Amino acid sequence: MNTNDDFKPFRQALATWYQSNKRDLPWRHTTDPYIIWISEIILQQTQVVQGLGYFNRFIERFPNVKSLAEAPLDEVLKLWQGLGYYSRARNLHASAQQIMTQFHGEFPTEHAQVLSLKGIGEYTAAAICSFAYQQPFATIDGNVYRVLARYFGIDTPIDSTEGKKLFSALATELLNPEHPDTHNQAMMEFGALQCTPSSPNCDACPLQNSCIAYNHKRIAKLPKKVGKTSVRARYFNYIFVHLDTKTYLHQRGPKDIWQGLYEFPLIETTQATNVEELLKSEPFQKLTDGQSFTILGTSPTKKHVLSHQHIFAQCVHIQLNKKSTALNQYTEIDLKNLHDYPTSRLMESFL
Ligand code: SF4
Repeated sequence: MNTNDDFKPFRQALATWYQSNKRDLPWRHTTDPYIIWISEIILQQTQVVQGLGYFNRFIERFPNVKSLAEAPLDEVLKLWQGLGYYSRARNLHASAQQIMTQFHGEFPTEHAQVLSLKGIGEYTAAAICSFAYQQPFATIDGNVYRVLARYFGIDTPIDSTEGKKLFSALATELLNPEHPDTHNQAMMEFGALQCTPSSPNCDACPLQNSCIAYNHKRIAKLPKKVGKTSVRARYFNYIFVHLDTKTYLHQRGPKDIWQGLYEFPLIETTQATNVEELLKSEPFQKLTDGQSFTILGTSPTKKHVLSHQHIFAQCVHIQLNKKSTALNQYTEIDLKNLHDYPTSRLMESFL
């Protein structure tokens, strides 16, 4: 079993590498747990380059827990529009309110309390506690899994229960207890910039001599994963209804993608449907009360890729002369206000 001292050369080489290679990112200049929290949630599933603009806009509009907790959820979702994984924004909002009521508006400082906030898992709790409070919790993201699997030559799949335990124990042992914040940042940055997924820069790597994957030519084989999750295909047919200066939106409900976001009336089918079939279908007839209409436009089918779903979507723009009964279930809005509502990126592309 390695002791902490056995890892000293690794830690030192990593720290030196980090000092010369780290990117200058705004959330690295603060120990404010609120700012760190927002940056970590935005960066989940999002590239730094894309996330930076969102982070700046978010912090400018919601500079602290109170301003976020008091904002309408629709405004939070609107600011999040285009980032995807909207449950992150809903959870941020709910947790801000939880902090106001349960922790008197002060961001909690104990790891277990941080972990109790909605949408905060092991990784984010470790990031907040180590970056803001210097507590010895190791952050393990995809970059860290890759560095550890390659450097130590570990074959255990990173997405297995056994792998999660093993990598967590190893990352904790490797952690520099005096500087858990910079150590964690360095590990993740090293994976993001040096030990990258497809073309790691091994020739200029300070860990090359002792890296097992490098010395055994196993880099492309590590890290290992149990398997990929299956992807479900869905077929969305949006009906953009034009009635004088009005149109109609629906707010998506729970237990499905895009909860809380707005979209045109949707007819979901089990397979791809052409426009002619769609306009004859029962759901369409119900939506329009079978009245006559004018087609103002049709879109090509777009493929929208989510982590577990591939959505094939088309949009038909129609003009009605009178409001159908079915449209009473939808939110009636002025066409000129269409862009005020938070929507998915797919819906935005039709707008
Ligand atoms: S030698 Fe290559 S594989 Fe090993 S840690 Fe360095 S960059 Fe990663």
